[in-house]
Amino acid sequence: MTLIKNPNDIGTTNISGIIGTSLNIAVVGGGIGGLVSAYLLAKAGARVTVYEASDQLGGLGTFFQYRNVYLERFYHCMLPSDRHLLGVLRELGLEDEIYWKETSFGFMRDGQLYGLNTPLELLRFSPLSFVDRIRVGLTGLWGSVCSSDGLDDVTCVEWLSKISGHRAFETFWKPMLQAKFGDRYHEVPALWFWTRVNREKGGGKKECKGYIRGGYRRIIAALVEAIEARGGTIRLQTPMEKLDLTEDGRPTVHVAQENPHVYDRVVVTTPIFALRKAMADGQLASVAEQIDAGIDMQGVVNAVFTLRRGFTKHYWVATIDEEIPFQGIVESTTLLEKTDTAGMHLIYLMNYVHRTDLRFHQSDAEILDAYMVGLKRLFPDLVDEDVIDRFVFRSPFVEPIYTTGYQRRKPPTTLLPGKLYLATTTQVYPVVTSWDGAAGLAHRVIDELLSQV
Ligand SMILES: Cc1cc2nc3c(=O)[nH]c(=O)nc-3n(C[C@H](O)[C@H](O)[C@H](O)COP(=O)(O)OP(=O)(O)OC[C@H]3O[C@@H](n4cnc5c(N)ncnc54)[C@H](O)[C@@H]3O)c2cc1C
Repeated sequence: MTLIKNPNDIGTTNISGIIGTSLNIAVVGGGIGGLVSAYLLAKAGARVTVYEASDQLGGLGTFFQYRNVYLERFYHCMLPSDRHLLGVLRELGLEDEIYWKETSFGFMRDGQLYGLNTPLELLRFSPLSFVDRIRVGLTGLWGSVCSSDGLDDVTCVEWLSKISGHRAFETFWKPMLQAKFGDRYHEVPALWFWTRVNREKGGGKKECKGYIRGGYRRIIAALVEAIEARGGTIRLQTPMEKLDLTEDGRPTVHVAQENPHVYDRVVVTTPIFALRKAMADGQLASVAEQIDAGIDMQGVVNAVFTLRRGFTKHYWVATIDEEIPFQGIVESTTLLEKTDTAGMHLIYLMNYVHRTDLRFHQSDAEILDAYMVGLKRLFPDLVDEDVIDRFVFRSPFVEPIYTTGYQRRKPPTTLLPGKLYLATTTQVYPVVTSWDGAAGLAHRVIDELLSQV
């Protein structure tokens, strides 16, 4: 088989084009990781089938219809540094549909809202002593210039306490880490913090975020069109139940009420829990042992409120207060145009928690009532009439709960050379889990797969 490099390919890595290949490849999972993988494979000439368990593509980036628009279930935006995702959008002809705005970050404590975007704002941040404000500022600066070497083996607690000091860590950094990782915050490596600081701030430049006119749904639709135009097939509501090998060693995808489907290659992009289950009984059980059994994931419980009024000028406000039942507010209308929100103000209230947390088992009404009480506490002039509609969305598998040395423990991208490949959220680290991270990983894995043809 002849491999060629396509000069028009995107990203840093070139995608190999296969001339005349008849490779038959299954991609399991129809989130952004699965769709970009399928797109790259279809572009390279493979025959691709995508298996998606739910009735919607997009994974964590799915949407719901609200009046005449489609809203994200979980707030989503792009950053100028999202080169893999932006490269795909360029290829799909969507680049001009993205709009960018300067955005900002706020910190709410004891009912007081502080902007935390400029050195001056940090100097005015009274919950910290003057010396601690300087130390927090220097920590951010140091994070954007220091090398990442060795940071995977040091916890955020150790690293941040050393640079910012214990008091500043307790008042400022610890609540932020807890907001993302709950009671497992103390295990997270400093490398996670380092990549996050560098992604969010784009290396010290002003914070700027992007959104696509019509919502992330358009990206999903364009990818589907591109895959199908190249002969690919997308199967919704078709969860992979088992992943195995035929007697002669070819990978098979088992779905309900059908004979096993035999492929030349399988690329799995689902949360690893689905994969472990699918490989548990069968010839791949020992291969599954390459996936560290200790890797667990944090989930999210998130509410969307449509409102008659906005609250702050900040895209994201950390609400660090034991009395407040959510960890943050994303006021996405500080970024989104009115045409993308049916003219409403839009906020997301979220808790990043483990799937065993009570909030995964409470009713939507209980969560919404508690969130409303919290909102009224933060914004005493909020009245019930300000709220138009409220929705709750949950996802049990959002981001790995990282521990030191995760870089060495993350699952391999090739599970069985020439047969089975993995491109899941657990492997994106140290890059921040995001659509860009998933697209970048998909590029890497598909390059690897094609190089082993
Ligand atoms: C609250 C929140 C806010 C976020 N904000 C942003 C943001 O602003 N910007 C950004 O870029 N990213 C953001 N993210 C992260 C981003 O959504 C994820 O990193 C990304 O969507 C992961 O994509 P994925 O394809 O790897 O996984 P997923 O999106 O999890 O997709 C996996 C897919 O596999 C399917 N599946 C599961 N089991 C099976 C099975 N047995 N068979 C077949 N299919 C199966 C699932 O249904 C799903 O569609 C956010 C996430 C959350 C939760």
